[in-house]
Amino acid sequence: MARTFVYTFTAAVLAICTAIFAMSPSGVADGASPPGLPVPGPPGVLHIPVPGVNALELRDSYEDPRGPDRVHAAIDIMAPTGTPVLAVDAGVIVKLFDSKPGGLTIYQFNPAGELAYYYAHLDRYADALQEGDRVEPGQLIGYVGASGNADPTAPHLHFAIFRLGPEKRWWEGTPLNPYPLFQPPETIKQ
Ligand SMILES: [Zn+2]
Repeated sequence: MARTFVYTFTAAVLAICTAIFAMSPSGVADGASPPGLPVPGPPGVLHIPVPGVNALELRDSYEDPRGPDRVHAAIDIMAPTGTPVLAVDAGVIVKLFDSKPGGLTIYQFNPAGELAYYYAHLDRYADALQEGDRVEPGQLIGYVGASGNADPTAPHLHFAIFRLGPEKRWWEGTPLNPYPLFQPPETIKQ
């Protein structure tokens, strides 16, 4: 009798847990990241910003050391100077900035305004690109180069993602690894 009760009770709890889990596809509340996944949304959601590059050819250099106490916190996509750079997502171009390390750079916010996409070492911007422009995934925004502190013999796109703080400052945020977001979902080990 007691044992039957325990089984029934356990089954009821499991059913409730399953129901709760099913209500939210990712099993977490909206706006929160499940452990192990760096940003909201499924992997493979971002458009690869350099045409002709396959997701499986990308190298995850996010954790590569840059000096004694820093990591790269971005990925590099090698490509000849003048190769088109495409928007990885929809959103708004918030800043076109020329910096010493990054050279010609673009800061784009995602549609929800919670992430900033950072494209650096550009050779030039797409014609007529302006701050405030709305872009679509795959839209031409610039061209690969070696501006800033990039090795002139190794032009590449340096691409980073920052989760924006409450003030939504384009220059301030918490870096996230872009690499998994370019991979097809079936290649991600959960
Ligand atoms: Zn880089």
